[in-house]
Amino acid sequence: MMHARRAVPVGRSGPKHVTCPVCGYAFRASHVGTYVTVGRESDFCPKIPGRPSDGARLIRNGVTMCPACSFAAGEDFGDLYLSFDERYDAEARLEEDGLLRVFRSNSPPWLAFHAAEICGKARGFRSRELGDLCLRASWVCRKERERPFESTFQLRAVRHFLRSLQDENLVGRELSVTAYLVGELNRRLGNHREALNWYVNAGRTTEGDPRVAWLDRLIDRQTKLAEEQAA
Ligand SMILES: [Zn+2]
Repeated sequence: MMHARRAVPVGRSGPKHVTCPVCGYAFRASHVGTYVTVGRESDFCPKIPGRPSDGARLIRNGVTMCPACSFAAGEDFGDLYLSFDERYDAEARLEEDGLLRVFRSNSPPWLAFHAAEICGKARGFRSRELGDLCLRASWVCRKERERPFESTFQLRAVRHFLRSLQDENLVGRELSVTAYLVGELNRRLGNHREALNWYVNAGRTTEGDPRVAWLDRLIDRQTKLAEEQAA
């Protein structure tokens, strides 16, 4: 049924030659303009028709990574301007990173998100955005059946989201969704009590707003699930 499917624009289309804003290396970025989803899982991971590894690749293509220095970003490289300090900081962080050193040569699909998180720190991203990159890395790991890495990125996402809830004055939908995700990721990590507390917190933030009624329903459903799992 085509109407149940939704094309998710990622803001770019067609193959393209790009130049790395950090090291100047020119390469052809592989990416997709749109992909089709058939709903989302309870941590908002898109369900994509076909093999899970194909889905992982489509999600992964939301980030461009330089094959020479591993600079990575969700934005089009052509639209990026990095200050001298940001460039210097990104370069240093990428060089020092242990995971990149180990995995650079075989470049698993989650690596681009990891690199984008490192570069996001150098570029002064908000914790909310860093958490989102880690969340997307965990989706890719799940589709690739990389369980330990999935948990690693879920945990990192939780830490960024908690910092965001504490420091970044989130409001409205973003506040509710972030609090919910702290609960949901804790549930997936096996911390059921913690999950239940955060579902309650998330429910308080929606205050019966009809625009987030879908989230209230999701919170109810996942609360029941966490209660069963905690028992
Ligand atoms: Zn580069």
